[in-house]
Amino acid sequence: MGGKGGLEKIACIGIGSNIGDKIGNCKKAIELLGKNTSIAIKKTSSFYETEPVGYKDQDWFVNCAVEIETDLKPLSLLSLCQAIESEMGRTREIKYGPRIIDLDILLYNNDIINDKDLRIPHPEMHKRRFVLQTLSDIAPDTIHPALKITIARLLRDVNNGGAVKKIVSHA
Ligand code: AMP
Repeated sequence: MGGKGGLEKIACIGIGSNIGDKIGNCKKAIELLGKNTSIAIKKTSSFYETEPVGYKDQDWFVNCAVEIETDLKPLSLLSLCQAIESEMGRTREIKYGPRIIDLDILLYNNDIINDKDLRIPHPEMHKRRFVLQTLSDIAPDTIHPALKITIARLLRDVNNGGAVKKIVSHA
């Protein structure tokens, strides 16, 4: 079938946009990830409209998440995510502020990484409903490597964490 072989690590990437064609921007980011020979997209969540968390004075986001197989090491995967953000026109801006596209590595295998440039599991993920909802679509039974609780359970138990509304379902 011409698939990409030998991609042995599994990672989940959270994707968000709140400028312009938000759904189109998220889809474009998924397309660019999938074009990389070191990445195979395995699952895509539904798309959700989500309330901004942190810096409130901005438009709602669209968020989704993908599960990928990859042979990239975590820092190389981070570089690729940042290259896609730049290619799509993202500039450095207010922390938590509006952005055309944002790619966060949420999980990488069962690893815990505390590098100055990269923290996995993403340190805020268990507090944010938009992350837990999108991740729960693709990996509900995955156990958070540090908290040792499934994603589905974290979603059930999250307090506040911002509103989310499903807008597009993906099989
Ligand atoms: P953001 O504004 O959300 O795009 O944050 C970007 C910064 O977060 C970059 O400087 C990254 O080095 C850092 N970072 C730390 N952990 C992660 C992660 N798991 N995924 C993406 N960026 C991360």
